[in-house]
Amino acid sequence: KRALSTSRPSFYAAAAASVPKTKLYINGQFIDSKTDKWIELRNPATQELVTLVPEATPEELKYAADSAAEAFKSWRKTSLLSRQRKMLDLQLLIRENMDRIAHSITLEQGKTLADARGDVLRGLQVVEAACGIPQMLLGDHLEVATDMDTYTIREPLGVVAGITPFNFPAMIPLWMFPLANVIGNTCVLKPSERDPGATMILAELAEKAGIPAGVLNIVHGARDTVNFICDNEHIKAISFVGSDQAGHYIHERGSRNGKRVQANLGAKNHGIIMPDANKNHTLNALAGAAFGAAGQRCMALSTVIFVGKAQEWLPELVERAQKLKVSSGFEPDADLGPVISPEALRRVERLVESGVKEGANLLLDGRGIKVAKYEKGNFIGPTILTGVQPHMECYREEIFGPVLVCLNADTLDDAIELVNKNPYGNGTAIFTQSGAIARKFTQEIDVGQVGVNVPIPVPLPMFSFTGSRGSIRGDVNFYGKSGVSFYTSTKTVTQLWRHEDADAQVASVNMPVMK
Ligand code: NAD
Repeated sequence: KRALSTSRPSFYAAAAASVPKTKLYINGQFIDSKTDKWIELRNPATQELVTLVPEATPEELKYAADSAAEAFKSWRKTSLLSRQRKMLDLQLLIRENMDRIAHSITLEQGKTLADARGDVLRGLQVVEAACGIPQMLLGDHLEVATDMDTYTIREPLGVVAGITPFNFPAMIPLWMFPLANVIGNTCVLKPSERDPGATMILAELAEKAGIPAGVLNIVHGARDTVNFICDNEHIKAISFVGSDQAGHYIHERGSRNGKRVQANLGAKNHGIIMPDANKNHTLNALAGAAFGAAGQRCMALSTVIFVGKAQEWLPELVERAQKLKVSSGFEPDADLGPVISPEALRRVERLVESGVKEGANLLLDGRGIKVAKYEKGNFIGPTILTGVQPHMECYREEIFGPVLVCLNADTLDDAIELVNKNPYGNGTAIFTQSGAIARKFTQEIDVGQVGVNVPIPVPLPMFSFTGSRGSIRGDVNFYGKSGVSFYTSTKTVTQLWRHEDADAQVASVNMPVMK
């Protein structure tokens, strides 16, 4: 294994000698970065310094991409069955280490332990689906003319990269590297600098599962690391999940450099509540999907349209929200933890205030709550704004906190029109007991993932994640059949083994036609 060439002093070395530093994982080794730029990662429930995350140096980034390119030469030649075997071992190791990964997520990201286990489990299901890769890679074969066959081969692209957000530190990296690797690609993955711990454990497990050196590489950093990924010559494709701002930039810069880019972006998911819905089921689903994970899910149901008399249920929704316990994710009775950072907290609070200033009614105010034992945490309790209008900032912006924004509509048609006018298209859900209403809704709604009495309709990995419109750039989705398409290119072979012109002395120059 090649040594790294940089030897600059560490900026924090003296001040934070006792704080563990997150390592890079390059060419099969966990490496201490030589950078002098370190990002502080603090426990969002306590502000304690958990680790320092390096901004990898240009030499380290190059080393990762070069290692991935070198490893691709041999990895692509390994048999599909041996790669499948490694995925089977990886899924078992993830299952065995579920609590360890969940613990890291709660420490760095703040969500409750139960929710963190869900984060790991939803990612694990993608790994389990990746174990069925031989079936998914089957090509087409047709005898297209007498003695002539055409068939397709799905080939890996080479080096592919992943850039992930803070809110699902296990699930989203697991949307990316297992499928990419089992197909025969090698990977450079950049987890969120705000909670890379889960990815580092996954790298350790991948190594244990027999993923060879250079096949999976983990680098850290922020904008410079992202720019490197967008520009590096070896990297053929980029999978990005995160905010609009970063996603538009990465999609544009990566595409300009000729890379395939899939980018899942922000959201404003609407729930439509019909007066005929089952009230208890609906209210429980709303409270869970709006406030769970402190509202920091891309599929959180952050906006609700009450149709007709359904708005009379609001007082009962407030009661449900008030019963939720806000505390550190490690407290066994916590329902929601803190938001990721003090800046995120200030932003959420500012958006709530903007709603009030623009004339919305603050039915439940979770700002300024005091959480015993965790006075310094980034906490905000469930918050409900009603009477919201589409022009208000709290409606137009993705809040990404435990804030439910409520609108009213007289009819289902009015509600559908509102949702279809919103630029985002990640997810939506209708609550009704009428099959006819549900069918009309699923047909007329212009959103990529639709739930009927299901508040967070994230498809399981035999399907794909199909957010639409403003919630996506690039047109090939994550995991499932789309994921396989994204990480492969198709080669089409046409072959002929009987030569009717074997004795002819004059070549035909006409366009070959198959008869
Ligand atoms: P983010 O965009 O801040 O960060 C995502 C990644 O991009 C990180 O690795 C980060 O280092 C990098 N990054 C951030 N700013 C950048 C910039 N200016 N230039 C280049 N790179 C940059 O997103 P986040 O706050 O970590 O995640 C929350 C967002 O992700 C929300 O908007 C949420 O809706 C979205 N999200 C979407 C989905 C989906 O599938 N649609 C899933 C999860 C999260």
